Formats: sequence, structure tokens, C-alpha cells
Amino acid sequence: MLAYTYIKHGTFQMMEKPVPEIKDPRDAVVRVTLGSICTSDLHIKHGSVPRAVPGITVGHEMVGIVEQVGEKVTSVKPGDRVTVNVETFCGECFFCRHGYVNNCEDEQGGWALGCRIDGGQAEYVRVPYADQGLNRIPEGVSDEQALFVGDILATGFWAARISEISSDDTVLIIGAGPTGICTLLCTMLKHPRRIVVCEKSEERIRFVHEHYPEVIVVRPEECVEQIRKLSSHGGADVVIEVAGAEDTFRLAWECARPNAIVTIVALYDRPQQLPLPDMYGKNLTFKTGGVDGCDCAEILRLIAEGKIDTTPLITHRFPLDKIEEAYRIFENRQDGVIKVAITEKTM
Ligand SMILES: [Zn+2]
Ligand SMILES: [Zn+2]
Repeated sequence: MLAYTYIKHGTFQMMEKPVPEIKDPRDAVVRVTLGSICTSDLHIKHGSVPRAVPGITVGHEMVGIVEQVGEKVTSVKPGDRVTVNVETFCGECFFCRHGYVNNCEDEQGGWALGCRIDGGQAEYVRVPYADQGLNRIPEGVSDEQALFVGDILATGFWAARISEISSDDTVLIIGAGPTGICTLLCTMLKHPRRIVVCEKSEERIRFVHEHYPEVIVVRPEECVEQIRKLSSHGGADVVIEVAGAEDTFRLAWECARPNAIVTIVALYDRPQQLPLPDMYGKNLTFKTGGVDGCDCAEILRLIAEGKIDTTPLITHRFPLDKIEEAYRIFENRQDGVIKVAITEKTM
């Protein structure tokens, strides 16, 4: 089968590999019917994910059809349409039992697919702990509607959940990239008083204006001043930092009002400064990233009910055998790309 592979720092390459097989009775093998490219794939390519293993098939955003299951798998069967969770988790350890599945104690726990074990920019993928890692797609929900459930939408949902948003709040979301938009959609479900998005890209600003006209958009250079004007207590009640740019960590805590919650979803390329003397007395609560992707069933239900729709994010479509072209466009942010859907290879 075709498998897009991490060769070395800076190089991904299409390779021919054997179709994966069940290795453990809790595994499933899924035929990938639709996949995507995530910014985290680029982080692997550029060497900022040191735990990524050269030789693995990349890709961790996908949906598909169950091809085969191990004898201990009970929640799915061959023929089921499923979303695949970016995270691998056992469901039984201390962290899993508390819902902190990102920190599952299993040696393959956390983000393993397409990082430490073969992922889904391929024709087939083996999913460990399939009872946890797969969710059946409800009747009437398309592959495109379900594509982001296991990764960026799970992340946005988790970010909105842990940010303790109430109906009185002014929520600031920094970054309107794909994960920022997913965070926005999930924040909207909490119905806060006001949502402000900070973004610098003209294309992304246009996207937010077009699809979510009720949301206020500000640019980074005016963000501190604007958020003070827009909120009742000198800053945002909740800040969710999804950008991961050079100055956005600082922007996040500067825009927060005293006693606010600042949720850091972003994956940074470099260490960030926590200038405690400057923020002393602001009494902020920081929550940091690593999605606990255990809400996929609920997210799929919300999609089926029409409450979340991420299909506008899909701006480009390429078959697996043309994935190099898809990467070129995604990596260089050409042609107004937001997300690329990778369909099955052309015969
Ligand atoms: Zn991802
Ligand atoms: Zn676990």
C-alpha cells in the first residue's frame, strides 16, 4: 500500500509498505477513506517533535472503514464507518480513568499515531486500543463532516471545556487557523457574552467574517487595547491561545483580566518565557496543552444534530497519490488553503 513516510528531518516521502496487520487482540485495522494534513505533521517534518520516529507513516487525522478487529475489540466491527482518535489510550490506567487520556501510562499512550507508530496518510492504518481509539460515525454524517473529530475538533472541544466559560464571559481566542476555528465553534456552543478572535492573516480574518459574522476580529497589534475596551473588567475573562506564534504567549496573559483562565492549546517551536514578576498580582490560572481526546462520541452527536460544522475548513482535496502537492500548498499556505482533505488514491 502507499504510505507517506517520515524519512529524516526535512524529508517526507511516499513509500510502498505492507498493509498493517493486527498485532494485539485490542487492535483494529482501518481502511482510510479520508485523511488530512495537520500543522503537527509539519512540526515533525521540521524537527520540532523529537519523539517522532524516522520511518513511520505520518498522518493522524482520518476517518475510514473498519477492515479487521482483534478478538478483544467490542465497540466496532468490520464494515463500521469510524473516526480515528489522534490519541492512543488504554482506558484503564489512573490517567485514563480520570479523563486525562493524553497522559495514558501505556507505552504507546498519547499522540502515537503518525508520530511514534505508523499513521494514516496511507491506505490502511492499525489502531491500538480500538475500543478507545475509534468512534462510529452516526448515520447521515459524511466523511468530510467527521474528518476533524479525532484531532483538531477534539482539541477545540477540550479547550472550550477546560476553560470554564460562562454566559457572562468575554472570551478571547488567539489564532484563527484550523484549530483556532474549531476552538471558536466549540466556544460558541457555550454561548458566552462575547467572543473576540485575534488574527493577523487577511485570509483568515476574511474567513471568520464570512462564516461567523457575530464574532469580533482584532489584529495582534491592537489586541490588548481592544480587549480592554470590549470587556467589563480590564481584560478577557477567558483567553484561549491557539496560535503558537512568537509573541502570542505574552499576548495571551496580557489580554487576560485578573483572575482569568488562560488556556494554552498552542504547540510552540521554542520555549516560552513566563515573566512572573510582570504578571505578579494578576492571579492567573494557566491550563496547558495536550488534548484529552475522549469526547469524540459527544462531538459526533453534535455534528449529527447540526450544531458543529467544520466542512467550510476543507478548502482543497487531493488523492493520496498526489499528497506531495497537497503538502506543498498546505505548508506554504498557498491558494487560500485552510485544510486539505486527502481522498483515496486514484486507481
Ligand atoms: Zn494534528
Ligand atoms: Zn491509560
